[in-house]
Amino acid sequence: MKYEIVMGLEVHVELSTKTKIFCGCTTAFGGLPNSHTCPVCLGMPGSLPVFNKAVADKAIRAGLALHCEIERNNRFDRKNYFYPNLPKDYQISQLYFPICRDGWLELELHDHSQKRVTIREIHMEEDAGKLIHDNAGTLIDYNRCGVPLIEIVTNPDFSSPEEVLVFLERLQEMLVYLDVSDCKMQEGSMRADVNLSVRPAGSQEYGTRTEMKNLNSLKAIQRAIAFESERQIQVLEEGGAVKQETRRWDDEQGESFAMRSKENAQDYRYFPDPDLLPIHIGDEWLEEMRNRMT
Ligand code: ADP
Ligand code: ZN
Ligand code: MG
Repeated sequence: MKYEIVMGLEVHVELSTKTKIFCGCTTAFGGLPNSHTCPVCLGMPGSLPVFNKAVADKAIRAGLALHCEIERNNRFDRKNYFYPNLPKDYQISQLYFPICRDGWLELELHDHSQKRVTIREIHMEEDAGKLIHDNAGTLIDYNRCGVPLIEIVTNPDFSSPEEVLVFLERLQEMLVYLDVSDCKMQEGSMRADVNLSVRPAGSQEYGTRTEMKNLNSLKAIQRAIAFESERQIQVLEEGGAVKQETRRWDDEQGESFAMRSKENAQDYRYFPDPDLLPIHIGDEWLEEMRNRMT
């Protein structure tokens, strides 16, 4: 049987603000481990977050460039999970009212055909710390904790690795030009997770997808797509069913490995963060951002 690939992306982009999203610590890459930290980004009891408006400015710029609707009434939600990269045990994110919705980006492919990829939403959130696994055990560096991110979620509109790569290159160019992010995949300031499913060619229904993480370069993304689509086709050809799960790409071995079964929003017990006020984006603010784009 002939199969076609269906993909959607979740792209995390670290914003190039001087300071973190809810405290005054620097966002500079590197530095002595745990030196860019304070009680807020270390999640000390009693510390309170204060929103950095420059984060919304950059998120709005990205949204306008991607032809999105800007959500005027923003709010932050707590995404609860227990893992040592996040000392508060929750990530401050946006589930219910993402700052941008319903955008698109037009791509020009190598054969000069056009392809429009639609954006479902862009939300703001904080980055987590970095776990380093080595012989000494697991080490933790919280410098990245609280660095502002936007997550750009596309609809499942991609049907070839070329489309994915061209999209990421265009996005990178655009966000660097707009001073939203430096978008360095090697430094992790742009990270794309690829959701991928396969289906019989011509079918209207979606197949079950997997989500691949740990893709650190465009080359890795290309290889991961090739491997994962082949793997899924083989599972189906053998009469099996693809499991909905999160998989980790191992670029050295050239394979993806199952990490965990896919969690959904209920698993995180999202609720509005009571420590942060809602943010209203008024006409004046939006107008100012629009004017700065031209
Ligand atoms: P969840 O709520 O479980 O995170 P979403 O609906 O938010 O799932 O989708 C996450 C990502 O997966 C999006 O980028 C979306 O385009 C993509 N996606 C959804 N369904 C499929 C599918 N069947 N095949 C490939 N990608 C998909
Ligand atoms: Zn801090
Ligand atoms: Mg999602």
